[in-house]
Amino acid sequence: MNFDLPESHRILRQAVREFCEKEVRPYAREWDAEERFPMELVPKLAELGLLGIRIPEAYGGAGMDTLAYAVAVEECARVDGSLALTVASHNGLGTGHLLAFGTEAQKQRYLPKAASGEWLAAWALTEPGSGSDSAGMLTTAVRDGDSWVIDGTKMFITQGGVGGFCVVLARTNRSVPAQRGITAFIVDAGTPGFRASRKLEKYGCRWSDTAELTFEGVRVPDSQRLGAVDHGFYDTMSILDRGRVSIGAMALGLGRGALELAIRYAKDRRAFDRPIADFQAIQWKLADAATQLDAADLLIRRAAWLADRGEPYSREASMAKLLASEAATRACNDAVQIHGGYGYTREFEVERHLRDVKLCEIGEGTSEVQRMVIAKHLLRA
Ligand SMILES: Cc1cc2nc3c(=O)[nH]c(=O)nc-3n(C[C@H](O)[C@H](O)[C@H](O)COP(=O)(O)OP(=O)(O)OC[C@H]3O[C@@H](n4cnc5c(N)ncnc54)[C@H](O)[C@@H]3O)c2cc1C
Repeated sequence: MNFDLPESHRILRQAVREFCEKEVRPYAREWDAEERFPMELVPKLAELGLLGIRIPEAYGGAGMDTLAYAVAVEECARVDGSLALTVASHNGLGTGHLLAFGTEAQKQRYLPKAASGEWLAAWALTEPGSGSDSAGMLTTAVRDGDSWVIDGTKMFITQGGVGGFCVVLARTNRSVPAQRGITAFIVDAGTPGFRASRKLEKYGCRWSDTAELTFEGVRVPDSQRLGAVDHGFYDTMSILDRGRVSIGAMALGLGRGALELAIRYAKDRRAFDRPIADFQAIQWKLADAATQLDAADLLIRRAAWLADRGEPYSREASMAKLLASEAATRACNDAVQIHGGYGYTREFEVERHLRDVKLCEIGEGTSEVQRMVIAKHLLRA
């Protein structure tokens, strides 16, 4: 088995790394403290191809694969979790849903603007009362002639307040079990009745935009329906599979970024007349983190490889996300421990990695949900 990345992906990794060191690391702490989405970064992300990684070149994207998407998200996360979450959700959820299930007219209207950064994508599944049990949603879309009228509230929506459009999931059929009665729609920012009703303040990934969205009598033509009527829940599950690969990659990048910071600090910091890196207690933390993160990397690559071959990878995506997010959370926690008291202050960036990485155990399916998915596959056999 060849463990090397293809040359195209190595070039991508290097380009994203250089970009993040120059354009993100110097400002990430300030953006995090201000909880301000840096709109000025968007054109730069687009220029690098980070807003259309999997969008075909014909629509203005980079036309790369799932592995490239994972590599790009990992590199963003190595420096900044908010950046990684923005890139992951824009590419994987909003535009990913259009890419997979959009009509040609929808792709032509939305994908070039998504790739150019003119319109960031939001994707709204979760509600105030339903997350893991996402089919339990209350938002409805009712057919009225050639249009649909959407009513409801969505919660925790990334890019909800800054997106140019939002893919929203709504209940369209109450006479069947919930999973068989949900449909996706594309709603443009500025559509009457659609608004970001609340910006959410967060523990980590603080400059990534997270909002509550309100839909009050939002009327969209049937041409804004995304995918088949009542099939949205099944489509959503496949969108989440690829999204889980990217959240695994986000965790991996945060973990590796924290490990790099911990190694540097352990070599510099002295105690008892020697660098703390000389102590076995420190070395074991570093060794465990590196080993567990490399294992996560291999699971992420396996899931991405299966996705790019068009094979089923739901179980593998959940395994990758589960291992990566839990290993990275441990690695970030240990990295703070290695920094001692300084690690607990905002003067050192390692605390931001620990706050940011916690999201990876929650978003796009909690660790408990990943275990449920994996067990379901095991018991089905
Ligand atoms: C920063 C951020 C960004 C997000 N971005 C988006 C987005 O862009 N779009 C979107 O639609 N959503 C988004 N989400 C929502 C996210 O996907 C949900 O928060 C997540 O799926 C968990 O749902 P919940 O918060 O409702 O928790 P709940 O489902 O209420 O779960 C609470 C706890 O109960 C556990 N639990 C629930 N059911 C079971 C069970 N059957 N067995 C065992 N344990 C269980 C969970 O694992 C968890 O520990 C985002 C969330 C955050 C924090």
